[in-house]
Amino acid sequence: MPAELKASSLYFSPISPSHKPTAGKDGYGKYMLTVPWSRTSGWGQPKIAARQDISLDPLAGVLQYAVTCFEGMKCYKDDQGELRLFRPAKNFDRLKRSAARVGLPDQWDNDELLDLLGKLLDLESDLVPAVDGENLYIRPTLLETSESFGIKDDAYASDALLYVVTSLNLGKGLYASSEGEGIRLDACSQFIRAWPGGHGSYKLGANYGTVQVAKRPGYAMSLWLHTVDGKEYLSEAGGMNVWVIKEAKDGFLEFTTMGLENGIVLPGITRESIIELLNDHASGKAEFPIAGMPKNIRVVERDIPMEEITEGVKDGSLKGMFGCGTGVVVVQIGNITSQGKEYKIPSNPLIKLLRDAMTGIQRGRIEHGDWSYVVPGWDGKQHEHDVDGQKVIA
Ligand SMILES: *Cc1c(COP(=O)(O)O)cnc(C)c1O
Repeated sequence: MPAELKASSLYFSPISPSHKPTAGKDGYGKYMLTVPWSRTSGWGQPKIAARQDISLDPLAGVLQYAVTCFEGMKCYKDDQGELRLFRPAKNFDRLKRSAARVGLPDQWDNDELLDLLGKLLDLESDLVPAVDGENLYIRPTLLETSESFGIKDDAYASDALLYVVTSLNLGKGLYASSEGEGIRLDACSQFIRAWPGGHGSYKLGANYGTVQVAKRPGYAMSLWLHTVDGKEYLSEAGGMNVWVIKEAKDGFLEFTTMGLENGIVLPGITRESIIELLNDHASGKAEFPIAGMPKNIRVVERDIPMEEITEGVKDGSLKGMFGCGTGVVVVQIGNITSQGKEYKIPSNPLIKLLRDAMTGIQRGRIEHGDWSYVVPGWDGKQHEHDVDGQKVIA
């Protein structure tokens, strides 16, 4: 039986207080969590030690065929100084889903991984800012370390590595630079990020490296499009899900975002959370956490033709656009360039309301069910002992 992922067999190697981070890496967490995996023996011993380079065989699957997937999470510090995560099990489930798509290990107990992540974060606590909109970004990564070369019986990796590193404030600069007017997007017809039956809905490294070349100076990111019967539709923007606010014929304000059925967009946890908040408010199940959200709203998940944006700008039915994701939380879209023409997207105060609700829940100022997870303090940092001849801190 291959071994399961077990937090209790953690090996912790403390770094000395005089440890200096590598030059240029001072905004990064000092530690990293690593857990090796092999097909025959399963999950190996988890280890928390100094953040360091990893070495790989030149034919490793990750290097040759981009056999890798990742997650993006954030750690917030609340006003009481406690560390918080936002719906972490959703990230772990999505990591499993991505892993399965590229033949990487996709089975572990989320609680064990959360326990290990909590210990890593506890060690970085001093680095986590206690300010709205600031946080420590967390990057869980899974990759194939074995060769994915030649003819194999099946497509599954024989060796893999799961690791977690952290860095300060991803997305903050983008948000700050756009406050007031919103970010500028460049609608991209040349490179297609995702298509039905493809892998756009998985957080695979391959989905990002292949389209980054589309980014043009002067724009925050590309607005991805896909084509159905010669007509262009919105997919998403950079690493964000995209929303359109429109006034419907019946006077309702429609918050529209692309549906998940055709597998083109990444199923964002921020997207899902916004859908829940708005739907609960519209149905009367739970008031929107901050006053000011109108009652006559509705959430629509469907394909959005690019034409609808350009026409909505002209006839005034477009009432705003925004992007959402862990990095930016919620950011207003101010401007879209499409086919050489520039469209000014109207601003909407409801976008800030959504952002404030999300950041409030994330930092624990607004209670919302079990969405915010408080990272338990780790008091076992100093106790080393041996389990089966291995040094263990538990
Ligand atoms: C990660 C990501 C998102 C946002 O997902 P969240 O879970 O909200 O962070 C959206 N689009 C793409 C392409 C992404 O990679």
